[in-house]
Amino acid sequence: MSSPAIPTRTRTSVAVIGAGPAGLTVANLLRAAGVDCVLVEAESREFIEQRPRAGFMEEWAVRALARHGLADRLLERAETQAEFEFRFGGARHTVRTAELSGRRHFVYPQPLLVTDLVAAYVDRAAGDARFGVRDVQLHDIDGERPAVSYRDPSTGARHLIECDLIAGCDGARGVTRAAIPDGRAVLTRYDHGVAWLALLAEAPPSADGVVFGIHERGLGAHMARSPDVTRYYLQVAPGEDPGNWPHDRVWDELRIRLAASGARPLTEGPLVEKVVLDMHNYVVEPMAYGRLYLAGDAAHLVAPIAAKGMNLALNDALLLADALIAHHRGDDSGLAGYSEACLRRVWQYLEFSQWLSEVLHGASSGDRFRAGTASARLRRLLASESAAKAFAGLYIGEEADL
Ligand code: FAD
Repeated sequence: MSSPAIPTRTRTSVAVIGAGPAGLTVANLLRAAGVDCVLVEAESREFIEQRPRAGFMEEWAVRALARHGLADRLLERAETQAEFEFRFGGARHTVRTAELSGRRHFVYPQPLLVTDLVAAYVDRAAGDARFGVRDVQLHDIDGERPAVSYRDPSTGARHLIECDLIAGCDGARGVTRAAIPDGRAVLTRYDHGVAWLALLAEAPPSADGVVFGIHERGLGAHMARSPDVTRYYLQVAPGEDPGNWPHDRVWDELRIRLAASGARPLTEGPLVEKVVLDMHNYVVEPMAYGRLYLAGDAAHLVAPIAAKGMNLALNDALLLADALIAHHRGDDSGLAGYSEACLRRVWQYLEFSQWLSEVLHGASSGDRFRAGTASARLRRLLASESAAKAFAGLYIGEEADL
């Protein structure tokens, strides 16, 4: 919550909106480079430090955070995963992704990453962060005097942050994307036509890593998160009410969809999160307008099919921070190329996500053509080393953009 001592008018170089992985990374990097910034966040610090979401981080992203001194606790605590399993037709098929790609996934729950990044910015670097703000508005984003304003709910006062540039990192439901006038950016959507019931179980994992159970009743997935918490997904119809999925129905269905000979039985536990996510994507092009630069889910949403969203948010944030720091030193080339540089990776990851979606959902599509091609993709991936290598590179995430 903002303190009443905060002046109602502040001048800074960069206003960063949103304290998710993208905004916090930008703010930390700016602060470390001596570029003045103010971070505003609609939720409380406690809330964002507990909001469950992602878990899989790609190795290049972890290494990049480590280079900036932002991954000490992550490197100490995160598990790494070297393989995952497809299950179908009652059998288990392991894909050894680390052996194939030379890289691993790090499993580190998003709330822990957010907690680390908030601590680095607020506690260690004494960065200016304003939590729990209301009614954030952007002003004059294509003019000479850009600014961000918000209302402090504890005093009712409106605060104005005058700035040179704005980093719009406020996620899928934020306000910055909507500040771009009609006709100045194109928003492209793609809907996978399915939804996932996302579940967090207070139960130890029932397999070593990720398991995708491909079944004609729909996908069932298992993802180890920590020794006591496991994420599960069940494919459901779009718009499904999570209330239709009581405890016993969830576990019965998971057992059917994840069944395979030799598999460990599932360890049940209370379901502490149960939300339905429609699997859809969008991309805003370009990711910038005037003095506003979008990063992360504010600019592009990638359905969590291939666990790419937070990794993309970090890629944008690293590029944006570099470009903002260069601008501060008089070089605007990074800002000029920012959108195009981000979108190269965004489209690669969207394409991979769509490819994997077909593999995972083809069998349950009710369409013989889709089921046949999905099964052909799976057989190729499991039988051909070159196909498996190409897959593993995309699944774990490439170091360089294609
Ligand atoms: P966010 O994390 O959404 O942060 C935006 C911040 O802005 C929030 O703190 C929000 O409160 C704040 N905000 C919103 N509106 C305003 C406003 N008006 N003013 C000020 N602040 C505002 N990705 C992966 O890479 N790997 C995974 O394993 C993975 N698993 C996922 C599982 C699930 C169930 C879900 C839902 C997503 C998953 N993702 C995963 C995606 C990942 O969580 C997102 O892509 C990531 O959070 C994007 O980060 P961000 O910083 O862009 O946005």
